[in-house]
Amino acid sequence: MKLAKRVESLTPSTTLAITAKANALKAEGHNVLALGAGEPDFNTPLHIIEAAYQSMKEGYTKYTPSGGLLPLKKAIVNKLKQDQGLSYDTSEIIVGTGAKHSLYSLFQAVVEEGDEVIIPIPYWVSYPEQVKLAGGIPVFVEGKEENQFKITAADLESAVSERTKALIINSPSNPTGSLYAKEELQAIGEVCLKNDILIVSDEIYEKLIYDGAKHISIAEISPELKEQTIIINGLSKSHSMTGWRIGFAAGNAKIIKAMTNLDSHSTSNPTTTSQYAAIAAYNGPQEPVEEMRTAFEGRLNKVYERLISLPGVTCVKPHGAFYLFPNVKEAVKVTGFTTVDEWVEAILEEEKVALVPGSGFGAPDNVRLSYATSLETIMEALDRIESFIERHS
Ligand code: PLP
Repeated sequence: MKLAKRVESLTPSTTLAITAKANALKAEGHNVLALGAGEPDFNTPLHIIEAAYQSMKEGYTKYTPSGGLLPLKKAIVNKLKQDQGLSYDTSEIIVGTGAKHSLYSLFQAVVEEGDEVIIPIPYWVSYPEQVKLAGGIPVFVEGKEENQFKITAADLESAVSERTKALIINSPSNPTGSLYAKEELQAIGEVCLKNDILIVSDEIYEKLIYDGAKHISIAEISPELKEQTIIINGLSKSHSMTGWRIGFAAGNAKIIKAMTNLDSHSTSNPTTTSQYAAIAAYNGPQEPVEEMRTAFEGRLNKVYERLISLPGVTCVKPHGAFYLFPNVKEAVKVTGFTTVDEWVEAILEEEKVALVPGSGFGAPDNVRLSYATSLETIMEALDRIESFIERHS
């Protein structure tokens, strides 16, 4: 059976490939330290789980409206007002099956065959594939390491063409943890307004910010930029709810309506129980979110110092998310390897430490390691990487 072209050109997720290999080693009985995780290691706060259970007992186990329950849309409207100071109508909100799915529907709704979507490098692995699935062309712009992996307005301007449809901004970023400042976003926003480029602002790591830094949504900067932006967010990272699969998009009502029509023919609606859990997550106490953030920040500071003490490793200190994205070019060279991919594979085989090579994020000199795992695990992993480097040098 011949497969459709659209799936034949898909690049398999590097993150999943490493995880599969690490799991196979675990199954053979090895003590594998996995630093590949893209999800918080805490359980979902109990009041959220209880609200979900309660809703099921009350019989809310049927279909919901396609774009999500009205009370959940209202809770999201409140969240956007409180956190971003932005006013939306419920007709400007769609609830999706995770932020990943909200992004997918968005690209399906707005990208025409041959449209270009500008994606800063390093990027989250799914952006280019989702753009391609919608018939679009990913146009990559490098965020330089010297500029904390962020693109500038000038970088953006040089990539704009007549076919540019959208720009993706992910702040804080997966994989770098970089956070755009207001002035940087303002300058980028001006280029988008001038060229009528839709801004896709993926704010999924919004709540995980460190060093007293502040998250700014590009939509907050001016009413014009709010009009030009679709905000993507969700509960996976903020409330440790990856498995519940709830995300949302907020913006232009016409786009939201088109996405709702699309979803009505694919998912029908996000899981009903998860939507009730999401209402409790947004309307209930937010202390657990802050507790998790504090735990991540404590780990980051310890792990970062240890990481940059490794020979041949440098790292831009992240301000958000739960990843470190060190440059290991020198360490790879001194240990006699040619590519970071081979180096990562050897570390997994010899030291049983799973890292994600930066090639999957468009940055072949780097690796991604997640500190969404216990401090002991990360510290032990770094000890093993150090002995690997020493043994091969
Ligand atoms: N956007 C970024 C940058 C992510 O890292 C992720 C998850 O890893 C998502 C979106 C998707 O999150 P969700 O679990 O809500 O689909």
